[in-house]
Amino acid sequence: MLNFFKRKENTDKLDQGLEKTRQGFFARIGKALTAKGRVDESVLDELEEALIASDVGVDTTMKIIGRIEQRVARDKYSSTQELDQLLRGEIERMILENHPQARDYFDMPLRAATGHPHVIMVVGVNGVGKTTTIGKLSWQLIQQGRKVLMGAGDTFRAAAVDQLKLWSERVGAGFYSKGMNTDPGAVAYEAVREGVNQGYDVVIVDTAGRLHNKKHLMDELSKIRRSMDKVLPGAPHEVLLVLDASTGQNAIAQAEAFTQATQVSALALTKLDGTAKGGVVIGVSDQFRVPVKFIGVGEGMEDLQVFDPSAFVESLFKKVE
Ligand code: GDP
Ligand code: MG
Repeated sequence: MLNFFKRKENTDKLDQGLEKTRQGFFARIGKALTAKGRVDESVLDELEEALIASDVGVDTTMKIIGRIEQRVARDKYSSTQELDQLLRGEIERMILENHPQARDYFDMPLRAATGHPHVIMVVGVNGVGKTTTIGKLSWQLIQQGRKVLMGAGDTFRAAAVDQLKLWSERVGAGFYSKGMNTDPGAVAYEAVREGVNQGYDVVIVDTAGRLHNKKHLMDELSKIRRSMDKVLPGAPHEVLLVLDASTGQNAIAQAEAFTQATQVSALALTKLDGTAKGGVVIGVSDQFRVPVKFIGVGEGMEDLQVFDPSAFVESLFKKVE
């Protein structure tokens, strides 16, 4: 029963978070679909425009339109109502192709089984929501009884260290910092060491988001990774790239830069609430081999959801009166 309420709460939150995207995207698509009774070239053109305007991205849009054209030709879909179902199905299928284990996030290996903490390194440019996502994720892990340590690896801004500390106090996580202007590699090293020695289940290391150029980014991230690997071979076990969905195509460009600079294993898309650009989740899911694992739907500590492609598409297509 508790689970039921939790699920309902999450669905409501997701529906609220996607409201602007739904209004923008689907109001357009709805118009394209209802203006005409049957599917023809102009309906598909309008659909294409609507997808691009919702920040799905050109490549992904072309792929969706191509698939729909095929289905319409093959299965003789003719009414626009059927097209609505078809579109929904194709979008869901496309996201799922890249998300074989979307719901397994919290099945990360336990310390009890591996004998060491699970180490997560969080990367992304300034302001996308890294620190906030670390706070929210820690809160969920702590709710599940895990012992979490945060490492303050964004040492370039004074506020960044304080902000992470505040989150650690709010959610009851451990906190490791060497202060501002210290070497992020050294912070990562010490945080992982403390994680190993103090019996932490999960260590999450924050990093600075300075994106001067690809070479610089690559060097900096490699250095931090190597420091962790020195203490605990194999760490970090996960590199979580945080992207701000409200920046639309910019988020895609950042995903490109970071996936080229370092091995990224998971994506989080934040700030889906309050943006009409939620279609970017579809583009990102399609264009990167890296699965979207989390979406941010608000600033509070409960506002991080494990990304569920089916629930996402269902919410996007929900008809609201
Ligand atoms: P960082 O520079 O990448 O560490 O970004 P921060 O974690 O400091 O976040 C920047 C701003 O974005 C803060 O004001 C956060 O409260 C806000 N933020 C982060 N995630 C979300 C989200 O999912 N929704 C909303 N509305 N705001 C968010
Ligand atoms: Mg930060």
